[in-house]
Formats: sequence, structure tokens, C-alpha cells
Amino acid sequence: MPYAHRVEPGTQVRLADHDTRDNGGLDKEAGQARFAELNAELDALQEELAAAGTHSVLMVLQGMDTSGKDGAIRNVMTNLNPQGVRVESFKVPTDEELAHDFLWRVHRVTPGKGVFGVFNRSHYEDVLVVRVHELAPERVWKARYDHINAFEAMLADSGTIILKFFLHISKDEQEQRLHEREQEVGKAWKLSAGDWRERELWDQYQTAYEDALSRCSTEVAPWHIVPADRKWFRNLAISEVLVDPLRGYRDDWQAALDELSKAKLAELAAYRKLKEETGR
Ligand code: ADP
Repeated sequence: MPYAHRVEPGTQVRLADHDTRDNGGLDKEAGQARFAELNAELDALQEELAAAGTHSVLMVLQGMDTSGKDGAIRNVMTNLNPQGVRVESFKVPTDEELAHDFLWRVHRVTPGKGVFGVFNRSHYEDVLVVRVHELAPERVWKARYDHINAFEAMLADSGTIILKFFLHISKDEQEQRLHEREQEVGKAWKLSAGDWRERELWDQYQTAYEDALSRCSTEVAPWHIVPADRKWFRNLAISEVLVDPLRGYRDDWQAALDELSKAKLAELAAYRKLKEETGR
């Protein structure tokens, strides 16, 4: 059984059916050991992705405040080569961004070939916060599910491997994490009164997430529900979802690298031959 739940395309998600405290039957020590193995594998896969330059990866992270998006990036990306990773965070749109279609600011920062891209929040905010706070009329945000699916299908057709993660925490766990931020001086910088205000809209957000996950989980861009009350398990579940499909590309990337190696060796041989012939 995989640690995260893959949302099968066309199925209706009910978040209450998914345990936020799941530990996959592992204790923390065993979980961390498995995580370390997967992390080393992810490191090797990223190197091949970058060298082959035939595909890109787009990892989308969504979740309620304190669900651990930042922590997941810090932990899961630990061993990757920073040169090949691009993290993009999506904040409240600027006036210029609002003057365009909602995907305008997103498309310009999608990862190019060879790049491992991470979206910390994403275009899904446009069917989440926008819906909950009624920042756009219903007919506008409702049309966006289809726009998102078409956009992601186009990215996938262009060689982007898309994996989407919903970090699923309980309302109690969120409360505890918000209190911890208050109590620990070293964490107080993360405090925001807005987080408490948003918490009052918990149920509306859960409904908005259920619809986004149900309507936008596709074969080429599946959503995964990650039990996220335990941070070590969250990291493990995300790593597994990343490593598993990327392994499937290894042969392709190796073939591209072999071709590249052959071309480079031929180039070098030609250079040496010319040097010998001309005596220069
Ligand atoms: P984070 O909470 O991700 O650490 P911030 O505290 O800067 O970072 O929060 C970013 C805020 O921007 C969030 O409240 C999020 O809902 C909001 N946001 C992101 N995208 C949009 C959007 N398209 N429309 C409105 N608000 C957005």
C-alpha cells in the first residue's frame, strides 16, 4: 500500500474518509530510515533528469496554513542539487497579475526541460481562496477546473511530469501548530493573525479542496492526499510518490545520456583526427 492516497480520476473525494494521523504501520525510526533511502534515490533521479534534459518535473504543494508545505520542501528537497531545482511561491496576485488570465503568472514559471520545479501554493488558489472569499463570481471560478485540466494536459504533452500533493492535517493539529508558533520565540516570526481568521473558514476550505481534488485529478496530473499530522510520515509519503513514477523514466533518460555521450566522444575523436592530420 502506498503511503499517500492517489485520487483516481473521476472519483469524488471526501477528506473526512482520510486519516490525517496515518503512519503506514511504521514507527518514526523505521519511517525515517525508509525516507533516507528514498531521498538518496531521488537525488540520483534528479541528476539524470537534469543531465538528460528531456523532461521536467512539476511538484504542486497545497494545504491549509501550517500543513507543512515549507517543511516538506526543506526536507524532501534536502539532497537535490539546488542548480536544478526551482521553487515558486504564489502569493496574493499583484495588480499586473490580476489584469491577466489566472494562468498567466503560473505558465511563465513552469519548469523547463531538466528542471525539478516546486510550486508552493499554485494555480489551485484560484479555485480555493478565490472561491472561499468570493473574490470572483461563481461562474468564473467554476470554469477554472476545465481550464486547469487543459493547461496541465498541455504541460504534460510537452514533457512535464506533474505530481500534486494535498497536505492533509486535522483542525486540532492546526490549532496545536498555531499555538506552538506563539509559544516558541524562534517560531513567532511565522505568526499571522490571518491564519486564525482563515481557520474560521475551515469547512468551506475543506469543501473547496474536495472539489478541486475530485475535478482535477487526471492520469497525467494526479492528486495525492498526504496524511500530514506527523511530519516524518508526510516527508516519507511525498518522497515515495515522487520516486515511484520517476523510476519509470530512468531508461529513457539513460538512453538520452548514452546518445549524448556518443556524440561527445565522436566530437572529441574528430577534433583529435583533424589535429593529427594538420599537425596543429
Ligand atoms: P504562505 O502562507 O504560503 O506561507 P503567505 O503567508 O505569504 O505564504 O500567504 C500567501 C497568501 O496568498 C495565502 O493566503 C494565499 O491564499 C494567497 N494567495 C495565493 N494565490 C492567491 C490568489 N490567486 N488569489 C488570492 N490570494 C492568493
